[in-house]
Amino acid sequence: MASITLDRVGKTYPGGGQAVTDVSIRIADGEFLVLVGPSGCGKSTLLRMVAGLETISTGTVAIGDRVVNTVEPADRDIAMVFQNYALYPHMTVRQNLAYGLKNRGTPAAEIARRVDEAAAILEIGAFLDRKPRALSGGQRQRVAMGRAIVREPAAFLFDEPLSNLDAKLRLSMRGEIRLLQKRLGTTAIYVTHDQLEAMTLADRLVVLNGGRIEQIGTPMEVYRRP
Ligand code: ADP
Ligand code: ADP
Repeated sequence: MASITLDRVGKTYPGGGQAVTDVSIRIADGEFLVLVGPSGCGKSTLLRMVAGLETISTGTVAIGDRVVNTVEPADRDIAMVFQNYALYPHMTVRQNLAYGLKNRGTPAAEIARRVDEAAAILEIGAFLDRKPRALSGGQRQRVAMGRAIVREPAAFLFDEPLSNLDAKLRLSMRGEIRLLQKRLGTTAIYVTHDQLEAMTLADRLVVLNGGRIEQIGTPMEVYRRP
């Protein structure tokens, strides 16, 4: 667990415009922060800078008290969850969950412990030996969550993870993500263009517009209409 501090963060894409301008946010340890706003407002760019998948043009990003501007994604102690699941099709669910840990030399007993724990939390124990193609969309999304959980990261970074699911599943997964995040106490940043999703999930939300913070506050504060 860790706080995340963005200090005057900006992004200019080479040959492109200014995608993010002067964004400062302090996300508390254990907080669920949602970045919301219309397509193109800079949500994904901001999240990817925290993840280390985009370079930071100006300002600093710190995870805990460590500035991570030049730290590789794998060394940032974060876990991303994407909408396209990013599961390996040729591996079983168990292998998918274990893969990253194996790569970084985690002992087999520790991998087994973490995989079993994640499987129990996500209720995917019954299909650990199946391949992703034999799973439903919701089950795949759970496995994608499992891949993030087994890393035991300081923070989860969600990039519109539910946008491929149908409305009913989206609703139930939304509830699950929220419960899971509170249960684990892991700091989370969640990107969505869906206002309802933002309101349901967020401890606080940040409304971005044209790459700048337009509003920041609790759902009550942001969506209260005068
Ligand atoms: P959102 O996630 O809110 O839809 P993005 O962060 O994807 O917004 O995009 C913010 C702005 O940056 C948009 O104007 C987009 O066109 C631009 N942009 C995103 N990625 C790139 C890129 N790789 N190169 C140039 N411009 C980009
Ligand atoms: P690693 O060996 O770093 O544990 P993988 O080999 O599974 O991870 O993946 C390679 C790259 O993808 C690494 O940079 C890692 O940080 C990233 N990655 C894999 N899974 C996730 C995840 N769930 N969340 C964030 N990053 C991930």
